Amino acid sequence: MSDIKTTTSDKIEKSDAEWRKQLTPMQYAVLREKATERPFTGEYEFETRPGNYVCAGCGQILFESDAKFDSGCGWPSFTAPAEAGHIDEERDVSHGMIRTEVLCSRCSGHLGHVFPDGPGPTGLRYCINSAALKLEPK
Ligand code: FE
Repeated sequence: MSDIKTTTSDKIEKSDAEWRKQLTPMQYAVLREKATERPFTGEYEFETRPGNYVCAGCGQILFESDAKFDSGCGWPSFTAPAEAGHIDEERDVSHGMIRTEVLCSRCSGHLGHVFPDGPGPTGLRYCINSAALKLEPK
């Protein structure tokens, strides 16, 4: 038995007060209140360094730089998650649109949305708020 929790079945649950203490106001707004940062304002929109993008809330790996592409949409975009089990999807009908919300499977933090207009081979565009991510350069 290890004390280090690394599997996705180990859900992280914290109170709003705990999240507020741990996160910056922007991270809190995105991850816990499902806010969207304004396009072309995020830290990682034009990031090209190789590395792993982990959840800003819990550190779980979410995306790899190899899957990042320049979609021109104003937010960091990825063709696929690093691990399918690390991303949860939810139907989102807010703001008069039908979209698929993506969340961190470990802390349930809101990340962004996935759209079916990405490049091959997945054809998917994971459109993710920079504030939900933390790049660990390789
Ligand atoms: Fe997380």
